[in-house]
Amino acid sequence: VRLSRLDLNSLIKSIVDMYYDPKAPWQVKALLDPKMPFVAADGSRLRQLFHNLIKNALEATENQESGLIEIRTEIENAKQVKITVCDNGPGIPEQHKNWIFEPYATNKPKGTGLGLAVVRKIVDEHHGQIQLKSSPQQGTCFIIKLPLTSRER
Ligand code: ADP
Ligand code: MG
Repeated sequence: VRLSRLDLNSLIKSIVDMYYDPKAPWQVKALLDPKMPFVAADGSRLRQLFHNLIKNALEATENQESGLIEIRTEIENAKQVKITVCDNGPGIPEQHKNWIFEPYATNKPKGTGLGLAVVRKIVDEHHGQIQLKSSPQQGTCFIIKLPLTSRER
């Protein structure tokens, strides 16, 4: 990875645009804090991270009448930003929360179980943190905190 000064909002905008489909029963939305500072990040690795999370969210909501996936950016504090990826899917049962980040852990007939393992690795590469908040029937949120560039700190 090569960490450099990255505009997270425009990266997220360009990813969300790729999923724009007015005919689809799902929607991927961005809620971006206009005051977001730069982060120290590798854009292509973060793209991979967002695609993995969006793919899971789309798979989790595919049997629903409508799927909503929201990616939100916020300033967490003077050192970190917070990115939240939420869906309105079935949620992740408490007893699954410990193992879903392990490689090859999957509940899907044709899943690889690698999506979240890669997400966790990318977060680590960025010296960030990832947290999972999910409640049955309500949906799932992955909360990621990333450090600002040293210039912004
Ligand atoms: P895969 O998608 O190949 O199963 P992942 O590592 O991407 O592997 O995800 C592991 C497991 O975590 C999934 O099989 C699923 O059970 C659960 N999971 C991940 N994201 C979500 C989500 N947004 N909603 C519900 N369950 C999820
Ligand atoms: Mg996956």
